[in-house]
Amino acid sequence: MSTATTRHHVAVIGAGAAGLVTARELRREGHEVVVFERGNQIGGTWVYNPDVESDPLGMDPNRYVIHSSLYDSLRTNLPRECMGFRDYPFIKRDEKGRDSRRFPSHREVLMYLKDFAANFGIGELVRLETEVVIVELGEGGKWRVKSRPLKSNNERVEIYDAVVICNGHHVQPRIAHIPGINAWRGQQMHSHNYRTPKPFRDQVVVIIGGAASAFDISREIATVAKQVHIADRSIKEDKQGKVPGHDHMWLHSTIESVHGSTVVFQHGKAVSADFIVHCTGYKYDFPFLETKGIVTVDDNRVGPLYRHVFPPELAPWLSFVGLPWMVAPFSVFERQSNWIAGTLSNRIALPSKEKMMEDVQAFYSSLEASGTPKRYTHKMADLQWDYDNWVSDQCGFPAIEEWRVQMYDATSKNRVLRAESYRDVWDDDDLADQAQKDFANYLI
Ligand code: FAD
Repeated sequence: MSTATTRHHVAVIGAGAAGLVTARELRREGHEVVVFERGNQIGGTWVYNPDVESDPLGMDPNRYVIHSSLYDSLRTNLPRECMGFRDYPFIKRDEKGRDSRRFPSHREVLMYLKDFAANFGIGELVRLETEVVIVELGEGGKWRVKSRPLKSNNERVEIYDAVVICNGHHVQPRIAHIPGINAWRGQQMHSHNYRTPKPFRDQVVVIIGGAASAFDISREIATVAKQVHIADRSIKEDKQGKVPGHDHMWLHSTIESVHGSTVVFQHGKAVSADFIVHCTGYKYDFPFLETKGIVTVDDNRVGPLYRHVFPPELAPWLSFVGLPWMVAPFSVFERQSNWIAGTLSNRIALPSKEKMMEDVQAFYSSLEASGTPKRYTHKMADLQWDYDNWVSDQCGFPAIEEWRVQMYDATSKNRVLRAESYRDVWDDDDLADQAQKDFANYLI
C-alpha cells in the first residue's frame, strides 16, 4: 500500500452530487484530484434525459444504458433546506428560469449542483465524457485506472494512490419475480425508463412498488390511463381497494401470478392488464472494479465495508461514497467524503484492518439476528442521523443540525397525512425559519 504522506493523487469516479462534494473535500484537504465523468455534464442523476433505453425493463446487458432515472415532472421529495450541503445551502433564487418552490423540479437541483461546482471551482477537476472502464490494484498497492473518452478509442491507463467510487446506484433495475411472467402478453417497463405518462393513454396499468417513485408515477399515469392498479406488498388489508379521491385507481397486495394478459393478486382479485411497470428499486453495480474478490456485491450488499465506506483490506485507498439509502443523501455524502479525505491525509486514523473486519462482522451478525435481509444492509431510515453523527465524530465535521432532523421527520409525516399535496402544503414553517437563520452563517 502507499506510504503515508499528506497529499495523494486521487481518482473520483462520477460527477454526481457525491462525486462533486468528494472532489471538494479532497481538494480542501490538499489532495490532487481527477474526477472521471461519463456524461457530457456534471450532475449525475439530476441530468434529465428524455430518451429511454432499448430494453424498457433494463435487463438486456447489451442495451444502451441511460444513467438518469428521472421523469419529466419530478419534483424533489425532500424540502430544499434538507437537501443542500451544510455550508452551501440550497436556497431559493428568485431569478428568471429558477424554480423557487420549496420542493422544486429536478431542473432546479441540477442548477444547484452546477452552482455548487462553480462556487468551489470543481469543474476544472472533471474530465467529462470519460468513462472509467477498469479500476484494479497495480504495483506497490497503487491503483491502475483505465479510462476511455467517449468520442475516441484512445484508452488511457493512469496510476493513482487512491480511488473513491461515486458512480450512483439508481441505474441497474431490480425486477420483481412474478410467477408466469415469461408468458405475459402485455408490455413491461422499469421505472428507470419512465419519463411521461404518454405511452399509457387508455391502458390498464399495473404498478409494482410502494415507495416514492411508485406513488408519483401511479398518480401521473392515472391522469391518462383507463385503470391503474398498484401492487404493494407492504399494504395493510384494510387499505386495499379503491384509492381515496381516485375513481380508477386501486391498491392491491402482491401479485401472485400472471397468465396471458391477466394479473392475479394475492387474495384472489384479478385484472386484465396491458402494462406492468416495475417501481422495484435498483442494484449496486461496479462493472469497472476488479479487486480479486476482496469487495463483492452479494444480494445487494456491497462488502465487506467498514461503516459503508472502506473495505478493511484496501482502506483507505479504496472507498465508496453514497451507498446508504433511505437517507437525506447530500448530508451523508459530505460527511463520508470528509472522512475519506482526512483519512487519506493522515489527519484521521482508521482502526486496524482486523478491528474494522470485526466491526463489519458484528454489524452483519446484528442484521442477521434481527432477521434483516442482506439486501437491506445499506438501508438507513431512522438510523441515518446516528450514522451521520458517528461519521461526523470521526472527522471533526459538525453534527447534523437539529432542524434538519426534525424537518426530515416532519416531511415524512406530512407525506402520509397529505399524500397528494405534501409538496405544496406543510406545517413546519418554524423549522424552515430556523434553517434560514442557520443559512445566514454561510451566505455572504
Ligand atoms: P449519481 O447522481 O447517479 O451520479 C453518479 C455519476 O457517476 C453519474 O454522473 C455517472 O455518469 C457517473 N458514472 C457512473 N459510472 C461511471 C464510469 N464508469 N465512469 C465515469 N463516470 C461514471 N435525493 C434527494 O436528496 N432528494 C430527492 O428528491 C431525490 N429524488 C430522487 C428521485 C429519483 C427518481 C432518483 C432515482 C433519486 C432521487 N434522489 C433524491 C436520490 C439521488 O440519487 C441522490 O440525491 C444523488 O443525486 C445521487 O448522487 P450520486 O452522486 O451518488 O449518484
